[in-house]
Amino acid sequence: MQMLRRLTRWLPVLIGAMAGMLVMLLIGQIAQTRIDDFRLRAYVQDIMGFMSDASVSSRNALHDAMYSGAVPCNDADILALRRVAMRSPYFHDIARVHDSQLLCSAVAGRFDPAPTLPPADHETRNGVKLWHTLTGIVTPGVQVNAMGMGDVVVFSPPVLPERLATPGPGFASVASTSDMRFVFWRAGLAQDQQRITLGQTSRWLDIGPLRQFSRCSNSVDVCASAVYTSSRIVTNPWGLLLALAIGAVAGGAMGQSWRLRQRYRTSIDWVTQQAAESGGIHLVYQPLVRLRDGKMIGVEALARLNDSAGNPISPDMFIPIAERRGVIGLITRQVARQALIEMHGRALADPEFHISINLAAVDVVDSTFHTFLNHTAASLRVPRAQIALEVTERSTDNMTRLREALDRLRVDGYQIHIDDFGTGFSNLAYLSTLNVDALKIDRMFTQAIGTDTVSSAIVDQICKMAELLSVEVIVEGLERQAQADYMLAICPDAIGQGWLFGKAVPADELEDSGPRIRQITENNDNDSGLK
Ligand code: C2E
Ligand code: CA
Ligand code: CA
Repeated sequence: MQMLRRLTRWLPVLIGAMAGMLVMLLIGQIAQTRIDDFRLRAYVQDIMGFMSDASVSSRNALHDAMYSGAVPCNDADILALRRVAMRSPYFHDIARVHDSQLLCSAVAGRFDPAPTLPPADHETRNGVKLWHTLTGIVTPGVQVNAMGMGDVVVFSPPVLPERLATPGPGFASVASTSDMRFVFWRAGLAQDQQRITLGQTSRWLDIGPLRQFSRCSNSVDVCASAVYTSSRIVTNPWGLLLALAIGAVAGGAMGQSWRLRQRYRTSIDWVTQQAAESGGIHLVYQPLVRLRDGKMIGVEALARLNDSAGNPISPDMFIPIAERRGVIGLITRQVARQALIEMHGRALADPEFHISINLAAVDVVDSTFHTFLNHTAASLRVPRAQIALEVTERSTDNMTRLREALDRLRVDGYQIHIDDFGTGFSNLAYLSTLNVDALKIDRMFTQAIGTDTVSSAIVDQICKMAELLSVEVIVEGLERQAQADYMLAICPDAIGQGWLFGKAVPADELEDSGPRIRQITENNDNDSGLK
């Protein structure tokens, strides 16, 4: 049983390793096929080079002899034929012919009796006649190929140079005319030659073992078709071993990282659930500062949670988990209770001071939460007007239900602040139907201040909108003095929140308005140039 459980735990690694090996085998096979294709192309290129040279050389020889102007087969003509024959390495004799009778040749001189040429095996579209393996026509017992035009014929050996005639194992080729009707020669083992389909080239996506490539010359009527029987990667022990090893390591590593991530996620899910149910949430507070005079007029309570190793988990991670697991209400209650306990002294000492608490949509519509909040506030004697409930604009709950619930909370005396304002669907029409006390401009827009972007223009718009609706403006994410100056200029009653005034800290580290805050007032008269 234990063994089975351990095996299941390592299953992702095992599956990853196996998948990795399969993928690497496939990649290895593709790579091998591409390398083989490359070699096959090089082989065909080589053949084409040879064939083109031979054809051009023979054709030129035919032309030279045809148009030499000499009296056929007199001594001077035979001498001229010899010169032509000597110049080319591709054929070994050149002869004059009349009515299929060979009259003389460079090697044999004048014939007596004159041998007869059989009818040509093929005639190309340029009118060149071709004969295949003529035996003993010039020299007894010798096989030649012949190519004729007008009254001239050249004879070439029917065998190829060694490197082309005996290609590597698995290679075979056929050189033919472009209509494939006349074959000049074949090379390679008979069984490999049988696999050749003239004019065929393997498609790119095809990674089968039979590689085919064919090519025709642009200048002469010659095509070469070749095949290579590629070996499978599984038959190459070193290639196979390398592919399997890389595949297993990479796939296994991916499986392991997936497993660790899964484990971490499960552990965060678990930690979140535990914290919600048995109180593992602690709070930090971030100052809310009135830009006009730099006074801290409140704090936002932000939830914090550590994982089992004591490392902080971002609220952006555990809040959605809590929502998904249906325990966000428990967390909100912890936050509200702790925040009111830790901040009620400040709230009682200063009627302008308010405590901001983030609510999830389910909290807003949960009447038991309303009751809980009423009781907690009453028992700690914190006036409801000094408690602000932040509701994100992106809440997806039924809008009517949400609006009614917000109204109830507001009627009860709480302040309602719309969080992350600008990132959701709110428009002026919708906003005017909501009874809220403040809009919190999302830090995405604050960051755009001073840039020439749409986001920066939105800040101005929101300020105007807020003025129209007589609601307060809170600017999130103020990090630079210039941003605060700009906000102060366009929205004189705005409240600021951000690292400029202080990061979120535990209750006992929270100071009153610090020196940075006073700077705001001093800078009030100094135009920052952002306006
Ligand atoms: P939020 O409500 O918009 O909170 C403001 C976030 O901006 C906080 O991140 C804060 O640390 C960060 N912040 C403040 N000033 C600056 C600044 O100048 N620059 C930058 N770059 N960031 C700044 P935090 O604490 O990580 O919270 C993230 C989000 O998690 C919160 O966004 C809120 O949506 C959610 N959250 C936090 N605590 C609670 C909670 O108790 N209940 C609920 N429902 N959600 C919470
Ligand atoms: Ca908030
Ligand atoms: Ca926010």
